[in-house]
Amino acid sequence: MTPAAPEEGTRSETTDRPSAPQRAVALAFEGLARITFRAYITLDVRGREKLPEGGFVVVSNHASHLDAMVILHVCGGPFRRFHLAAAGDYFFGPAMAAAAGRKPSRFGALLRTALRLEPMPVRQLGESAQRRAARTAAFGNLAASCRSGDVVVFFPEGSRSPDGVMRRFRNGIDELSAQFDGPIVPMHIDGAYALWPKGRRWGRRGTVTVTVGDPLYPEPASTEPARAGAAGAKGTGTRRPRLSKRLEAEVRRLAGEPTGEEQTMVQHMKWWGWGDEQVTFTHEDKPDLAPFVREKLGIDLDGPRESVLDFDELAIDPPVPNEAFSAALSDRLRAEQITSEPMERVVHAYGKSVRDLLRIRRGDLGRMPDLIVYPESEDDVVAIMETALANGVVVIPFGGGTNISESLEPPRDERRTVVSVDMRKMDAVIEIDEVARLARVQAGVLGPRLEEQLNAKGWTFGHFPDSFTYSTLGGWIATRSSGMQSDKYGDIAEITQALRAVTPAGVLVTRAVPSKSTGPDVNQMILGSEGRLGIITEATVRVHRAPEQRKILGYLFPDWYDAITTMAEIAESEASPSVTRVADPNETLFSFATKKPGGLVDKYTSAGLKEFLRRFKHYDMDKACLGFIGFEGSEKHVKHQRKLVGEIVSRHNGICVGSGPGALYDQKKFDTPYIRDHLLDYGGVADVSETSAPWSVLPKLYDGVIEAAEKAFVELDVQGWIMSHLSHSYHSGACLYFTFAFIGSDRTDVLDQYATVKRAIQQAFMDLGGTLSHHHAVGLAHAPWLEQDISAPGVAMVRALFDGVDPEHQLNPGKIVD
Ligand code: FAD
Repeated sequence: MTPAAPEEGTRSETTDRPSAPQRAVALAFEGLARITFRAYITLDVRGREKLPEGGFVVVSNHASHLDAMVILHVCGGPFRRFHLAAAGDYFFGPAMAAAAGRKPSRFGALLRTALRLEPMPVRQLGESAQRRAARTAAFGNLAASCRSGDVVVFFPEGSRSPDGVMRRFRNGIDELSAQFDGPIVPMHIDGAYALWPKGRRWGRRGTVTVTVGDPLYPEPASTEPARAGAAGAKGTGTRRPRLSKRLEAEVRRLAGEPTGEEQTMVQHMKWWGWGDEQVTFTHEDKPDLAPFVREKLGIDLDGPRESVLDFDELAIDPPVPNEAFSAALSDRLRAEQITSEPMERVVHAYGKSVRDLLRIRRGDLGRMPDLIVYPESEDDVVAIMETALANGVVVIPFGGGTNISESLEPPRDERRTVVSVDMRKMDAVIEIDEVARLARVQAGVLGPRLEEQLNAKGWTFGHFPDSFTYSTLGGWIATRSSGMQSDKYGDIAEITQALRAVTPAGVLVTRAVPSKSTGPDVNQMILGSEGRLGIITEATVRVHRAPEQRKILGYLFPDWYDAITTMAEIAESEASPSVTRVADPNETLFSFATKKPGGLVDKYTSAGLKEFLRRFKHYDMDKACLGFIGFEGSEKHVKHQRKLVGEIVSRHNGICVGSGPGALYDQKKFDTPYIRDHLLDYGGVADVSETSAPWSVLPKLYDGVIEAAEKAFVELDVQGWIMSHLSHSYHSGACLYFTFAFIGSDRTDVLDQYATVKRAIQQAFMDLGGTLSHHHAVGLAHAPWLEQDISAPGVAMVRALFDGVDPEHQLNPGKIVD
């Protein structure tokens, strides 16, 4: 039978109960242990007054059998007041041992009775539901014990450190804190390892120093994605890390070590998905979403959800060492700037495409980087480049890790040591030339931090990709990114006026002049180079005075093709909107399905409006297209622009539905990836492909892509969905952005199914006059189409450039061209 989680405040006895003689032996053991401990160990306790009244959890580093006894003596009270969370497969009572197929340990059984050990089944890859339930029940028992006034001792490293060095905290404590919201006391034990290390049969006499920290409390998890952006909404970057991380940082601080946060000062996204670990998406407040997804994709969002692997279940290969490189690097950077910590290696292994998530969620980590370094200045970057080149090490610049073009992963067969250079500590706006409206900015700055620094002085950058919260200036430049307001501010290629980049030949510097005739443009060579030519350390970029007014209005159009024509006419007109975007009928339906009840979108999906559109404007609502057009500037300018756009829209039988839907879109635009990850939890595979083409080509291109995707769904025999929007208007054309989704079948590997659909769409771009990507770069994902896009001599030229700059292919090898 599967043990159930206990009810609040009660313990479920899932394990073997001690007999009366066992209890007597345990009492005798307690007496003996106390006498021996006092005779041999001198305790130096700092901060004992911080221990709370009543029940609590103690979390500490663990390097010796002495640790538990030390904590017992620090906290006080009889042994039976203490409950130790113990690896069930190790401290096996008879039942656990039998389940694990091992021989029961007498000492384990004795400890279990004396100290009230709670055996926890260790998390395993592909473990049974019974095992999972047993662990939940064990956490429930521990939580119930705390609530009844006892003390739980938890060693989050999982086992004793073999060398006394503290290991990363596993996240079991997060599971416990989900069931117990009382105090959790961080503690650091120093000296126990020296007296009784792992592998030694007996300990020796000496002093152990214990430092008690302030109790921490779990924080309630948010169920809504946080937002960040130009509108000044809250950024996810301000959220606190999960409790296990906070506790680890605190224990390290008590130990006088650099904490994880001090070490990197960088908050990573969740390793298995998009965004902050504490942010989860729910469809429950969007009543139309689950029925929509059920109908269009056959996915039941109210059905069972796939659980993500626990980090500890990942098989992480040891880093490939390069002693000479490590020694040379240590001479030039501080120890805190260099790490090989497994979590760090995993979060720097891939970008955030659905293919990346599928691979990482199944434990396929590819060829992870061996070392992560955090430069703080251009000199640091020079030091990294020089030592890497001199020692045959591969260098991969890392911005925010948000690319979806497989632009970061080292080649699978790479044998050299690989170093990932995370630029996020270089995040300052260095200076603003107010006359020229140019800012010098360090390349590792994340979107929100950049806007924050500029806004404080009355400026804005105006580059808002949907990945804004987590992507960096250097990453935008290295991938030729485009932001939502590119119509006004330009793509990053236009915004970037000058660069500094550390290359194998030294620091490349270009001048911030408005235009030049200096032969092939070196700025343009670095733009889109994906780390293959060097590491961008700084850019001089255009900035703008923060606009007096900013408005995004919603529009409805009766027909998709007419909507494209409307956008082309707006681009040709005197109007100069900051955003132009219109969704096809499928994406419009999807937008409606994600609304919350009573929200602003209701206004234009209301029965009254629909009836008006049907009766008087002759709309077929299944073909209606929702658009957003943005305006920025002085009040007078915005008014005039709205009028110009309004006239064009009216000529095409479109109507303005006000600022409500636009404001909602503006607020929610950074949330889409959370929805994608949510679908993935239920087996739904969703991804994007985008292109650009001349206005004259767009309608045919659109039709061809839809046809190609649908053909691929039929070929795979899967239920699929494809939708699109037009955005980023230019003089002669625009970007078409396709989102596709399907539920993977179990007939073949879902990665192959994904590749079939993706390939069909990309090939249609090529066949029908588009480009392989408007703003998502080449990486490995789009490289197969490069020759068709820029011709064989074009590819040869790019290859010659990379080979000339980096003959040994040490800079992000394999990306764009091999
Ligand atoms: P990373 O992903 O870390 O790196 C990307 C490439 O740039 C790698 O090859 C890396 O080596 C190189 N690189 C990074 N920093 C440097 C540096 N300092 N010097 C040299 N090379 C460097 N893109 C858009 O353009 N517009 C969008 O609206 C948009 N929306 C997205 C939405 C989502 C949900 C996701 C997942 C992605 C989106 N992207 C978008 C793609 C992605 O955000 C961009 O490609 C972005 O520019 C990558 O920046 P990054 O800092 O995360 O770079």
